[in-house]
Amino acid sequence: MRTPIAAGNWKMNKTRNEARDLARAVVEGVAELEGVEVVVAPTFVAVPEVADVVHGTLVELAAQNMHWATSGAYTGEISPTMLRDVGCQRVILGHSERRQYFGEDDELINRKVRSALTHGLAPIVCVGETLAEREAGKTVEKVDFQVRAALSGVRAEDLDAVTLAYEPIWAIGTGRTASPEQAQDVHRSIRSLLASLYDVEAAGQLRILYGGSVKPANIDDLIVQEDIDGALVGGASLRADSFTAIARACARR
Ligand code: PEP
Repeated sequence: MRTPIAAGNWKMNKTRNEARDLARAVVEGVAELEGVEVVVAPTFVAVPEVADVVHGTLVELAAQNMHWATSGAYTGEISPTMLRDVGCQRVILGHSERRQYFGEDDELINRKVRSALTHGLAPIVCVGETLAEREAGKTVEKVDFQVRAALSGVRAEDLDAVTLAYEPIWAIGTGRTASPEQAQDVHRSIRSLLASLYDVEAAGQLRILYGGSVKPANIDDLIVQEDIDGALVGGASLRADSFTAIARACARR
């Protein structure tokens, strides 16, 4: 059985003090939960504060991005070894906002995924189609392409460190969620792709999160879907009450 994950992507929000307070409230709110992994992803500058708060608790720490190299002349970038050094266990890669606003392409994302795995960081790799692609009936084609590209060269023995997040771009931050059936269809097709790229057992173990306007009001219907293994949450992760409610729903699965 796959343990669900509730992951909060704080994006470019929260000062260090606010991040510390939110992290404390999340730690408290999920302290009694079993059967769910809880992850928070603050901004780079708040990572050390949040690391202090979550250290020794069940809450795991993720970065929102990283460079593929360990060090060097890459102004403005942060390396996987630096993220490990400040206590990150995971890193979100390929978020649609990185693809859209910062020109990250599938090849770059693949390079980052392989680097994260090499350096002991578990990647949460985001994929998803635009509204135009969905309306043109190209959702599965697009998502398949992104999954194949992101995992190119990833060995079967490293796959258990990988989490995928299906995030339809038209549902991110828009208040429009994919219906549970729409999400399940894509999750199922990702899992069958994984079975063909690796094998059925590996495909059955990999967690596939849904992301896109997840909130306490819709998580119950999403999390009961067979191939939905948790949520990557943006807006609703910025408040401890809504994020912990989502984590609780994931734990009930
Ligand atoms: C996200 O950015 O990963 C996300 C899913 O955002 P939101 O929950 O705000 O749609």
